[in-house]
Amino acid sequence: MGGRNQAKGIIFGTAGIPRSSTGPTSWAGIEKIKQLGLGCMELEFVYGVRMNKQTALMVYETAQRHDIKLSAHCPYYINLNSRNPGTIESSRRQIIKTAQIASQCGATSITFHAAFYMGDAREKVYQVVRDNIIRVMEALKEEDINIWIRPEISGKISSFGTLDEILELSAEIPGVAPCIDFSHWYARQTGFNSYPEFSGLLKKVGKKLGPSSLESMHLHVSGIKYGKSGETKHLNLMESNFNYTELLQALIDNGCSGLLICESPNLEDDALLLQETYHKLS
Ligand SMILES: [Zn+2]
Repeated sequence: MGGRNQAKGIIFGTAGIPRSSTGPTSWAGIEKIKQLGLGCMELEFVYGVRMNKQTALMVYETAQRHDIKLSAHCPYYINLNSRNPGTIESSRRQIIKTAQIASQCGATSITFHAAFYMGDAREKVYQVVRDNIIRVMEALKEEDINIWIRPEISGKISSFGTLDEILELSAEIPGVAPCIDFSHWYARQTGFNSYPEFSGLLKKVGKKLGPSSLESMHLHVSGIKYGKSGETKHLNLMESNFNYTELLQALIDNGCSGLLICESPNLEDDALLLQETYHKLS
């Protein structure tokens, strides 16, 4: 257990229950992940947090039994910069709810899309998002919930979540760490699609957040289609020109460990493709 034998490197899994799962439950999904030879799964609460405590316990036990690592994705409708104070409050509540149930499941991270700019100045949006995340962290601390809170790099130019914004939040707020979605970042027309950019990005993360941040990463990858305003659609890797091979090489060369969640429509097929490619390169 742990110590020297602890698996190092990237663990691969799917965004939600694999398509080939025998049933629609999270624990059936975890069993399928194990069967496929993958190592992690993200619980998708994207349309609402509806899991009860009893189910969470079953998820926890199944994941423990099979040694499958878990993370969770918060609902999509979060906007910490909404014009409506009620929406901001319910956004904070959704993050807290996700953190509560995810930690009961034994997940180590939750991720979310923090906000839309709504035409506001970026610095102002940053402050609003930061202040609201601080309030979330205070609430979680009161409940003794210990789980990484990970705002995600967004794929749409209208959405808060550039690399710098996410790194800044992570540096500023204890308990906050990045969810780096490389496909989203590429879709924002950053041109980040080859080894030097991927490796440079990872070095920047290590420099800003310390070397340990590269040892517990949370990553999202998929094929992606994009236009002028950024991401339009997730694609399977083979239908996209996203350069996953060079990304994997950069992760290896920078000594990265953590979870990589595949968000391609074919889920486990691309997760397995990523895993196989990674092992071939290692
Ligand atoms: Zn996401």
